[in-house]
Amino acid sequence: MYWNIIPECISIIILLIIWSYSRKGSNLPTLTNQLFQACFLVTFLAISTNILSTCMLTYTQIFPIWMIELVTTIYFIFTPLMGMIYFLYSSTLIYNHTKLSKIMWLGTLPGLIYILIVLSNPFSHILFSLSSEGVYNQGSFIFITYLLFYLYCLFCLIIVIINKKKINYHIYKILSVFPLIAVAVIVIQQIYPNIILSGTAATMALLIIYLHLQNKQLTLDSLTNLPNRSELFQMMEILIEKYGHDPFVLLVISLRDFKKINESYGHAMGNELLVKFSEFLSSIAPLNSVYRFNGDEFAILIQHEQRHLVKQIIDLLDKKTISPWIIQDYSFYVSTVAGVATYPQSATTAEKILNAVEYAVIQAKRDSSKQVHYCDENIMNSINRRERIIEILKDKIAKQSFELYYQPIIDLKTGKYDFAESLVRIPNSSLGPLYPNEFIPIAEETGLIIEITYQILEKACEFINHLSKENIHIKSVHVNFSAYQFNESNLSNKVIEIIESHHIPLSKIKIEFTESTIAKNVEVVTHFANYVAQKGIRMGLDDFGTGYSNIATVIGIPFGTIKLDRSLILAAMDNEKSAGLVKNITRSFQDLGCSVVAEGVETKEQLDYLNQNNITFQQGYYFYKPVTYIDLVKIILSKPKVKVVVE
Ligand code: C2E
Ligand code: CA
Ligand code: CA
Repeated sequence: MYWNIIPECISIIILLIIWSYSRKGSNLPTLTNQLFQACFLVTFLAISTNILSTCMLTYTQIFPIWMIELVTTIYFIFTPLMGMIYFLYSSTLIYNHTKLSKIMWLGTLPGLIYILIVLSNPFSHILFSLSSEGVYNQGSFIFITYLLFYLYCLFCLIIVIINKKKINYHIYKILSVFPLIAVAVIVIQQIYPNIILSGTAATMALLIIYLHLQNKQLTLDSLTNLPNRSELFQMMEILIEKYGHDPFVLLVISLRDFKKINESYGHAMGNELLVKFSEFLSSIAPLNSVYRFNGDEFAILIQHEQRHLVKQIIDLLDKKTISPWIIQDYSFYVSTVAGVATYPQSATTAEKILNAVEYAVIQAKRDSSKQVHYCDENIMNSINRRERIIEILKDKIAKQSFELYYQPIIDLKTGKYDFAESLVRIPNSSLGPLYPNEFIPIAEETGLIIEITYQILEKACEFINHLSKENIHIKSVHVNFSAYQFNESNLSNKVIEIIESHHIPLSKIKIEFTESTIAKNVEVVTHFANYVAQKGIRMGLDDFGTGYSNIATVIGIPFGTIKLDRSLILAAMDNEKSAGLVKNITRSFQDLGCSVVAEGVETKEQLDYLNQNNITFQQGYYFYKPVTYIDLVKIILSKPKVKVVVE
C-alpha cells in the first residue's frame, strides 16, 4: 500500500516552529501551560512515529519486523491520544479546581482502555497485523482508533457548549472551532485513506490554540518583553495555591519623576530608559523574576522569602542612582522608590498583596526622605481603612446619601452672605465621621469622585431651587470640581443638563477648581470653562497661591472669582514681600473684573488686614464654619454679623 506522508512532514516542521515560539518568554507552571506543552509532545510523538512507521513499512527489507511493529504500535497509541490531551487542555480552561480533577479522571478513562487494546494488539491483531514479509494489514477493529478520536472531539464540544455561559466568549469560539476543524481533516483522511492527515489536524488545532489562547504577546509587555502584571498575578496565585507554606517577597520598583523625563526628553527616550532599566533589573534579580508592573513600575517576585536578596537588590538600586544613564548621547540621573510586601505576613491573597505593595509605592513616592516602604502593620491598617472608605463611598453613591454643608461667603461692603461654598460631609459612617481631606483623595484615586460631584451638584441645585421658592436670595452656590472630573467626555453637557433640570438659572452655580487642576489638563479645562461660562455658569479659581500655574493660562479662563488661599493670607500678614505681592495680585485681578475672596479667615486682625487691602469678600471660621442648609438659610436671613464697610 502507498501512503502519502508529505502533509505529515510539513506538519512536523510547523509544529516545531510553533513550539519554539511558545518557549519564549515566561512560562508559568499552570496546569493549562503544562498541558499545552504536553499537547506538543504527544503530537510530535504521533507525527514522528507515523512518518517513521510509514517509511519502515515501505522499506521492510531494511528493518526487522519487531521494530516496525513496535514503532507502529507507538504510533497507534499516540495518534488518538492527541484527542485526549487536547480535551484535557480544554477542560483546564473551562473548569475550576474542584470539578477539574473529576472531569480529567473521567476524560482519561477511554484513553486508558484504548491503550490496553493497543498493547494487546500483538496478540489479538484487532487493530493491525504485519505479515512475515512486513506487509501491513488493517484489523477488523481499526475503527476504534477513529472512534476514540471522534469521541474526544465530541467531549470537547460538549463541555464547551454546556459551559457556554460561564466562559469568556473568545475562549468559547476557539474551543468550539478547533475540534470541528480536526474532525473535518480526519473525515478527509477517511475518504482518502492513503493521505495521512492526523498530524495535520493536530497541528492546525495547536496553531489555533497558540495564536489565540497561548500566544506570548498576550502575556508579555511589548516594550520590555517582560511578563506583564497579569502574569505576575497568576504566578502569585500559583505560589499561594501550590506552596502556601512557602513565603515569598514582592518588590515593586518605580522610577521617581519618570513623567518629567518623558516631558523633557520625549517619549522615545522615556521608552529607551524603561527598556534599559528593565535590563538592569533582570541583571540584578533572580532569573525570570522580573515583571513589568505598570508604566514606570517593575516588579520582582522573590520566592522562598530570600530577604538577603531583597536587601542586595535595594542596595544595587541605590548604588545605581549615583551613576548616570547614558542614552543617545544624553546622560541623566534617575532615582527609584520601592514598595515591599511579603506573603503571608503582609496579606494572604494575591489581590491583597498587589494592593498593599501599590499603596506602599504611592507612600514611597510621596515621602521624599525614604526610598523603600515596607507593607508593615501600619500600612496594612491604612489599606484596610482605605478599602472600608471605598465601600462607604460606593454605598453612599448608591443611596445618594452624601450630606452637603455650606460655608457662607460674606461681602463686607453689604454685610450680606450672597454666596456660599458647598462642602461634602460624611458625619456618620461605620468608621465614625469622615472628613473630606481623607475621603476626597480616595474618591479621586478610584474615580468615584465623578459620580459624587454630579450628586453634589444635584443637591446644590435642589437647595437653590428651594431657596428661590421661599423667595430667599442667593447669588450663587460654589461647587468644587476635582481634576478627575475633567476626564469625563461630555462633562459640559451633563453639568448644564443637571442645572437646567432643576429649573434654576445657570448663573446660580459657580464651579470652583484649582490651579493644579488647570495644569493637569490645560486644553480640556480651558475649553470646558469657556463653553459653560458662555452659557452662564460662573467660574471660581480655588486655593490661589498654592499652585504654580501659568498666569497667562489663568487669565485665559473666564474666572469671576479668585479665592486667595489661607496660606497666602498668613504669609502676607507675616512678611512685607508677600504683603506686596498679595496687594498687587489682588489689584490686578480686580482690574480684570474678578472678585477676590479671602479663604480661611479666622481672626479679627485678618479680617481688618484684608479689608484694608480691599479684599471684602471673605470666608472663614471667623464668620461661620460650614453649616447645614437649614442654618445657612437662617444666616442668609440674619442681620449682618460684622460692621459693614462703607467706602
Ligand atoms: P477647599 O475647597 O479649599 O475648602 C475649604 C476648606 O477649608 C473646607 O474644608 C473648609 O471647612 C475649610 N475652612 C473654611 N474656613 C476655614 C478657616 O477659617 N480655617 C481653616 N483652617 N479651615 C477653614 P473641608 O470641608 O474639610 O474640605 C477640605 C477640602 O476637601 C476642600 O478644600 C476641597 O478641596 C475638598 N472638598 C470638600 N468638599 C468637596 C466637594 O464637594 N467636592 C470636591 N471635589 N472636593 C471637596
Ligand atoms: Ca473650594
Ligand atoms: Ca480653597
